[in-house]
Amino acid sequence: MKSLLVCDECDLLLREPSVKSGDMVICPRCGDVLHRYQPEGLKRCLAFSMTAAILFIISNAFPIVGLSSKGLVSSTSLLGMVNMLSHDDMPLVALLVLLTTFLMPALVIGAFIYLLLPVSLGFRPPKMAFIFRVMHLSQPWAMVEVFMLGLLVTISKLHAMATVVPEIALWSFVLLMISLTAAAANFDSRTFWDQAELLE
Ligand SMILES: [Zn+2]
Repeated sequence: MKSLLVCDECDLLLREPSVKSGDMVICPRCGDVLHRYQPEGLKRCLAFSMTAAILFIISNAFPIVGLSSKGLVSSTSLLGMVNMLSHDDMPLVALLVLLTTFLMPALVIGAFIYLLLPVSLGFRPPKMAFIFRVMHLSQPWAMVEVFMLGLLVTISKLHAMATVVPEIALWSFVLLMISLTAAAANFDSRTFWDQAELLE
């Protein structure tokens, strides 16, 4: 089934031509790239999402920073950091960190795998359109970078009383940030629906 395409630049309406991998659909009037068909991108997106899922678990299971003060050593995880911020007159920063570095990334990673794994195995998962919408809405909010803000605030508050040492989750957060960005960059929704449409 051929669908219609609209050029974002000049609003030209055209029937979608049949494309094969690597093909680009270009607007005949203004030359804008309307769509790039990249089924390989979906495979890369799935691979990056699975990497992100593992990194997400590591990032939250292990401490981000260790604190040592007067011979006393303790460490804190992301959720510990959120807890600390919320009890420290910074409920907004705490909420922001919780949303953008925990809840939303979890939703995006989960949705990517939920949509792409079955499609790559050759079947359509149930509630596909709903999950797609969830992914689409949560994506702009999944900003692991904001975590850095929470971290800096926490560190600057603690720095006066303790020595702050980076721990394993800090590095895995950095890698998580990269894999999430790579997953999103490789996901093309039109290619996804084109592929899903071929399945039962
Ligand atoms: Zn155009």
